[in-house]
Amino acid sequence: VLVLDRVGKHFGSRRKLGHAALQDVSLSLRRGEILGVLGQSGSGKSTLAKAIVGLEAASTGSITRLLDAAGPRPATAVQLVFQEPHSAFDPRMTLRASLQAPLRSHRALSQEQRDERTAAVMAEVELDAALLDKRPGQCSGGQLQRATIARALLLEPQILICDEATSALDALTQRTILNLLLRLQREHNLSLIVISHDMDVVRYMCDRVAVLLQGRVIEVAETKDFFAAPTHPHSQALVEASI
Ligand code: ATP
Ligand code: MG
Repeated sequence: VLVLDRVGKHFGSRRKLGHAALQDVSLSLRRGEILGVLGQSGSGKSTLAKAIVGLEAASTGSITRLLDAAGPRPATAVQLVFQEPHSAFDPRMTLRASLQAPLRSHRALSQEQRDERTAAVMAEVELDAALLDKRPGQCSGGQLQRATIARALLLEPQILICDEATSALDALTQRTILNLLLRLQREHNLSLIVISHDMDVVRYMCDRVAVLLQGRVIEVAETKDFFAAPTHPHSQALVEASI
């Protein structure tokens, strides 16, 4: 559903850069696949996510989305779930208002239809509908993380990108949210990109793994093969550091 061909991203002037945020990134994502993206802090993971969603334009190369024609509008077919749940919502708005804002701008629906869909996704992410009247400050991090997933689901994405979506959570809450994502991925046949520096998250969730180092993809492999025998020295270091 997604093909990246030699994608590069430079911030600011090209000349003074030691290395670009992304360089020559070629990757593909299949329908229903879960791809893990590993890499140290600063390796370009979030830049890659933003380029795929279209929040940042790539400087070079091309990003092709092969979307289901019968599916939702291309503008909302790729959704991003952010790293910090508390900054994903406007603190002054109720969760209902935050969840429904993108629906208002992207779908022609009546308020009744919006409420119906919102109630349905809240149930899908196992959140009490009473939370819709609360503001972010009155919710826990785990609840907000579920709410960010609900907000993304409202727009019926075909590709969901989770950028460190669970790193701020305790181990048990993290695991339940990962399981929630796996269930949603199956039920909606989503293609999922799981960005993490947590090797366990990637090992648990992903079909394939890509490793970024200084903006370049240094290795792409099936998850099992990757953890059994990473080929690039930097991948080996990552795997060893996690054991
Ligand atoms: P982390 O694991 O810490 O989230 P990351 O792998 O997501 O790191 P990025 O946020 O993609 O890393 O950053 C990659 C590089 O691009 C870094 O050198 C960063 O300083 C640079 N960068 C990212 N966003 C911008 C921006 N808006 N302007 C200038 N440079 C940026
Ligand atoms: Mg990041």
